[in-house]
Amino acid sequence: MDDDGIAMRPAIQEPPVEEGGDPACWASLLCPNCGAVPESQSATVCQRCGEPYPADDE
Ligand SMILES: [Zn+2]
Repeated sequence: MDDDGIAMRPAIQEPPVEEGGDPACWASLLCPNCGAVPESQSATVCQRCGEPYPADDE
């Protein structure tokens, strides 16, 4: 066999994974209405649909 695993490489761009980051925390930052990712963590309303993000006071 001639299968060393480099011949057929899928051209899929995966999002960078931030080590130490918790993906679960991002879920709470998504727009509760349309699920859009906020442009920044300081965003208070969804830039797509205008839905206000829930307050995340600790
Ligand atoms: Zn939205």
